[in-house]
Formats: sequence, structure tokens, C-alpha cells
Amino acid sequence: MRDAIGSGILNGNALRREDCLAVLDAPDEELDKLLEAAFVLRKKHKGLTVGIQILSNAKSGNCTEDCAYCAQSRSADSGIETYSLISYKKLSATGKLVKERGLSRHCIGLSGIRFSDKAIDDFSEYVRNLKAETHTSICCSIGFLTEVQARKLKAAGLDRINHNLNTSRSFYPNICTTHTFEERVANIKMLQAVGFEICSGGIIGLGESKSDVVDMLLELQSIHPESVPINFLLPLKGTRLANADTAHLTTAYCLKVLCLARFMLASASIRCAAGREVYFKGNERNLFKVADSIFASGYLTADGQTIDDTIRLVKECGFEYCIE
Ligand code: SF4
Repeated sequence: MRDAIGSGILNGNALRREDCLAVLDAPDEELDKLLEAAFVLRKKHKGLTVGIQILSNAKSGNCTEDCAYCAQSRSADSGIETYSLISYKKLSATGKLVKERGLSRHCIGLSGIRFSDKAIDDFSEYVRNLKAETHTSICCSIGFLTEVQARKLKAAGLDRINHNLNTSRSFYPNICTTHTFEERVANIKMLQAVGFEICSGGIIGLGESKSDVVDMLLELQSIHPESVPINFLLPLKGTRLANADTAHLTTAYCLKVLCLARFMLASASIRCAAGREVYFKGNERNLFKVADSIFASGYLTADGQTIDDTIRLVKECGFEYCIE
């Protein structure tokens, strides 16, 4: 990394596009310099805390969309368990776990892209009860909402909505043909106008170029999400990307992507999401120099590290886990 880039970042200057690419193209010998620069920003904005989130799947599979990486798409032959909205009792059990274990957030995923008003009314009731019972932060991944539906969820107490961009605008048609990148951006803007915090990030390893990674992060920069989950592809059985080549997802490259995310979205929560247990195994101390947020207990359709092991790992690396 050229020193001018490093000092510019630490002085709060926005990186030029070519500098962003230079971060991803940096030789591995320069990784330590990138990590140290990212660590300075991370400490400035997030201290030494790591937020640990738990993900519940409140509605699984049967999705009309054809996202190439997703086991919940109807077009995937993934054999996952599919179900409609789970009972409140089940959801509340996870909510209570978040509270008891002092985790930072309960993230709730619902498969699907559009929901009836009745479905949103029912789910709003869940959110209202969950907030009253646990007082924990709740984030929800819930497709495209109408403004009326978004307002109902806001009134019920939902804090944050996750809606990922996933990749760059120009690469998007390669991973999904049933909705557009523009629809995703419009949904996020509407949610921000309604007053939601936004969690929005992407997936690395879909076949995109480094230039696409930079473009996606530039789009995210213009959105200003509170949280930026970066997933590293876990090729799942039955999906279009089941046999994707992930050889380029070396730990060093994955760390460079996270460093770039920290440089470009310095004050946001940079979350290392799916793939943490695979691509960063044994390198978590470096990971936490950049990322301040992770999941425990697995991802929607992939297993992950248990809560106890995740908490132990955070402490062993010299960081503290936090309640938001
Ligand atoms: S990522 Fe979401 S919208 Fe796409 S197929 Fe999966 S559940 Fe459906």
C-alpha cells in the first residue's frame, strides 16, 4: 500500500477508485500495513468491542426469486427444510437467548421478496411482543416492503432492516434475474426515509471482479448503512453456485476486502458474516482488527460456530463482546 493512501485514509479522506483497487491488488506482504491502518479506524469508531448477533430463520425456502447463491430459492434443489412463518414461541426463545447471553442483536430472516399486508400485520405483532419481552435490538431481513408495511413494522418497534446489495450494479444480472439492483436501492432509500437503521452489504466470491467489489462498496458508501455485512461465499448444494471456484478467496484477499470496507465506511459496523469460520480460521485476531461484528450459531442455511465458542474466541483474541 502506498503510504499516501494510508495517511489519506487515517486523515478521513475518501479513497479514489484507483486507490480502492490498489488496496485489493496490494501484495500480501503489505497486508500488515493495511490491517494496522484499518485497526486505527476500527478503534477510533468501535473501540475493541465485537458485536455478536444471532440469526433466526422465521420463514424458510420457497422463494420466488432466483438468487444464484441462495438455498432458499425455489429454483435451488437444496433439500433444505422449508416452512412458513414460525410460531411466536420459537422466535421468542431465540430472543430470550440474545438477552440472557448479552448478545448485541437478534437478526430475523424471512425468505421471500414480497409479503401480503396480512403477513406483515402478523409479523408486526411478533416484533411488538418480542420488543416488550426482551428489549433487545431486532433487525429483520424481509424483502421489498411497501411504505405502509414499513411504517407498521417501525411502529411495532423494529430497529433495523437488512437489505443487501450483494454485488455491483453491473454484475447484479449475473446473480439474479427476477428483480433488479435498482429495486434494491429504491427499497433501502424508502426504508431510510421511514426512519429505519439499515444493514446492507454483499457477498464476495460470486464470480465478480475486484472492480465489482469496489463498485459495490462505493454504492454502499452513498447509502451510509449503519451496518455492512460482508459474506464470503459458501457454495451451497443445489444452488447455481454450488460448484463455484472459491480458490481466490484466500484469507489475505478476504482481509483486504474487509480492510477496504473499513476504509470506505469507517464508522459503520463492518460485519464478517457467512464464511467467517471457513476463510478466517486461525486468523481471527487479524479479522477483529478490522471487523467489529460477527454472527454466532450459524447462518440461515449453513452451520457456524456455537455461541460459547464464539464468545471464547473473541476474548482469546483480546477483544470484548458487547451489547448494543
Ligand atoms: S436471497 Fe432472499 S430473495 Fe434471493 S432467493 Fe434467497 S430468500 Fe429469495
